[in-house]
Amino acid sequence: MAKVIIIGAGGVGTVVAYKCAQNPQVFSEIILASRTQSKCDAVVASIKAKYPQAPAMSTDRVDADSVEQLVELLNRHKPELVINVALPYQDLTIMEACLQCGVNYLDTANYEPKDEAHFEYSWQWAYRERFEKAGLTAILGCGFDPGVSGVFTAYAAKHWFSEMEYLDIVDCNAGDHGKAFATNFNPEINIREITQNGRYYQDGKWVTTGPLEIHAPLTYPRIGARDSYLLYHEELESLVQNFPTIKRARFWMTFGQEYLTHLRVIQNIGMARIDEVDYNGTKIVPLQFLKAVLPNPQDLGENYHGETSIGCRISGLGKDGKPVKYYIFNNCSHEAAYRETGMQAVSYTTGVPAMIGAMMFLTGKWRKPGVHNVEEFDPDPFMEQLPLQGLPWEEVVGGDLEVDAIG
Ligand code: NDP
Repeated sequence: MAKVIIIGAGGVGTVVAYKCAQNPQVFSEIILASRTQSKCDAVVASIKAKYPQAPAMSTDRVDADSVEQLVELLNRHKPELVINVALPYQDLTIMEACLQCGVNYLDTANYEPKDEAHFEYSWQWAYRERFEKAGLTAILGCGFDPGVSGVFTAYAAKHWFSEMEYLDIVDCNAGDHGKAFATNFNPEINIREITQNGRYYQDGKWVTTGPLEIHAPLTYPRIGARDSYLLYHEELESLVQNFPTIKRARFWMTFGQEYLTHLRVIQNIGMARIDEVDYNGTKIVPLQFLKAVLPNPQDLGENYHGETSIGCRISGLGKDGKPVKYYIFNNCSHEAAYRETGMQAVSYTTGVPAMIGAMMFLTGKWRKPGVHNVEEFDPDPFMEQLPLQGLPWEEVVGGDLEVDAIG
């Protein structure tokens, strides 16, 4: 039984709040805090209306860019764990405040500086010693990808492989929200991520590609073939360190032609810029302005149809030393996610694992002072919870992974 603070009341924060409320045997008190408290109030009111048996829930206001405000918030509520589902810009301030207040930490995306579209774990890994000395646990990247993608890989290593050699994380959103252009999570973070160069790991080195330069049709279960683009994604950095037998690690994501055409126009006309420009004497960042006029990802759920399918395709040597091809994945329905939480499947597939990670910590299964990526913990209790909490997974052994021929 424990008290948690969720910071961030966007699409993901809403799902985390719902899922914590559904598990009162673990979460005895939930505080939802964000920059705009009225959003937290609306989320908590909808949960209380749906689940009269929900544990004690309240809301608060915090600017998570301010360590001072965070310290005040944490000292006032004294939670056991902070679930950080604000934006990646706030990771370091929240970790700093957790250290000052003796609170454990979990997030779903690695730190990014606001003025540079660049993400890597080094900033957060630099906190390892301080968390360890304080006896506090920080769990990094506990959404779906990163998150379940790392747990799937750890599960494959534990149960199927003696040596994993090739890892391809494949992320398909085959949903249709009926809008000409919208992003499925925070547009600023999303557009920054996919307009960067691609990068993958091969034989001990990182290979850089142009943005969305490499693509191939991959076939997703119950969805079919979808053009999939090679991107750099943060979990590749920790997975190749934690599983050093991996020779090649890549990440693929599907995009429709309509989406890519809009993206190209946005870039060509300068609306993806993250530097300040002067507009009638006011400084604005074009990408932040664009976010303000694009559909809010939280409002996409109502008319969203179709499924997401995210998984890991791994080949290497099995426990008996013979070659194995292995695919583990989850398919998640946008409609079902919306019926349960009012949010679409991209928020749902991120928020459910964040809640499970918190549950793993609070029940003592993932408690290890220091700063850790999810694949450093025992995957089994997490894998047991996934189907119970709305994300069933499936395995295919010996199938065609399709990825061998690419590259
Ligand atoms: P949203 O933009 O919908 O929500 C972000 C929330 O954070 C909003 O409530 C926002 O408040 C709040 N926030 C922003 N800045 C601050 C601040 N300075 N202080 C306090 N609160 C702040 O984003 P999502 O819910 O879509 O995404 C949340 C996180 O999840 C992101 O870090 C994203 O990268 C990550 N993510 C991870 C995935 C994974 O699989 N690992 C997949 C998808 C997302 P306000 O409403 O006032 O703007």
